[in-house]
Amino acid sequence: MRLAIVGVGQAGGKILDRLLEYDATRNASFISHAIAVNSAKPDLMGLNHVPQEDRLLVGSATVSGHGTGTDPEVGEQCINEDLQEIVTAVGRTASSEIDAFLVIAGLGGGTGSGGAPIIAERLGEIYAEPVYGLGIIPAPDEGGIYSRNAANSLQRFVDNTDSLLLFDNGAARSSGETLSEGYAEINGEIATRFGLLFSAGEIDALGDGIAESVVDSSEIINTLGDQGITSIGYASEAIQTDESSGGLLSRFLGSSDESEIASMGESTNRITSLVRRATMGTLTLPCERDSASRVLLIVSGPPEQLSRKGIDEARSWLEETTECRTVRAGDYPLPNEDRVAVLVVLSGVTDAPRIEDMQQRAVESEEIAEAREEQSESDMQDLIEYGDDE
Ligand code: GDP
Repeated sequence: MRLAIVGVGQAGGKILDRLLEYDATRNASFISHAIAVNSAKPDLMGLNHVPQEDRLLVGSATVSGHGTGTDPEVGEQCINEDLQEIVTAVGRTASSEIDAFLVIAGLGGGTGSGGAPIIAERLGEIYAEPVYGLGIIPAPDEGGIYSRNAANSLQRFVDNTDSLLLFDNGAARSSGETLSEGYAEINGEIATRFGLLFSAGEIDALGDGIAESVVDSSEIINTLGDQGITSIGYASEAIQTDESSGGLLSRFLGSSDESEIASMGESTNRITSLVRRATMGTLTLPCERDSASRVLLIVSGPPEQLSRKGIDEARSWLEETTECRTVRAGDYPLPNEDRVAVLVVLSGVTDAPRIEDMQQRAVESEEIAEAREEQSESDMQDLIEYGDDE
């Protein structure tokens, strides 16, 4: 499907950068137009794939290009200051050329946390196309202030988007030693999952001979729905090339018919086991699988590996596991690919313990902040009274 994307704040800009790289290297063409919006000039300058003319410095009158210092209220102010300019820049693409908008932001900081819901709200007011959000939830060890910012932003972002796709930094595994190495790896994971989702619906890129079973953008839009939260599971496996696997199999099996049957069985089993791994493994937002109200399965890879039987069996298994009556399924043929990848999209999720945990941390952090304020007020009072006594 074709998207107009707004990356807001540092995380939003970096993730947009990775999606642009994914789009270009895989010739996926799901990004029609994209802009990066930030109140911090150095963060905008650090991007690699967003063209200079699509980088928008906002809130200069408020923070002079220095960022918000993790304060969403300042972020909100910066975005409001230049909202018209942002909307004009993102609306440069004719809306007939896109299927949806996507607003990306880290929810724990300032510019993205405070600004992304406002941008989503305004786009929703102006355009008929759906507006999706991609929100990054801070890891629990980032501290109370990040949880508090994210909990507040999350509510507004959900309210102002047709679906909020979430990625939990706390659930992502990274072997990076420094924070920025870690983020580079995590952002790669984010681009793989969300890039596959949005490019799967971009059937034009596939050219002629599109099979009926290919997933299209309306199935993605219908699955994401018009409100709520979405989480995604992913798993992939490298496949042997024709020469290597054909040579070996035919030596063992003799006839080419038998080897064909064996390889069909192999691709069926590969798909069913990948779908189990994607569903039961780490989701972008950990959640109860049976709390989703709409599910979409996408299987991508070389056309000969996309076993119809495997996809049908996997879909039945998903229906049972998620207890969901609307499980859509389709394939995404990629002739030059050397792996099979599956994506399980869980939408309308209502039970996500990580969100409850974050809200709890936010309340605790609020209480601590209030207690500190009371303490400092009473210290100040003591000081005044002490001064009067003297
Ligand atoms: P902003 O520029 O004020 O919007 O703040 P940030 O975008 O830096 O938001 C801070 C939050 O985003 C942190 O709590 C991190 O969880 C997250 N974050 C920052 N940079 C990255 C990144 O490159 N990748 C990911 N996945 N998360 C990030």
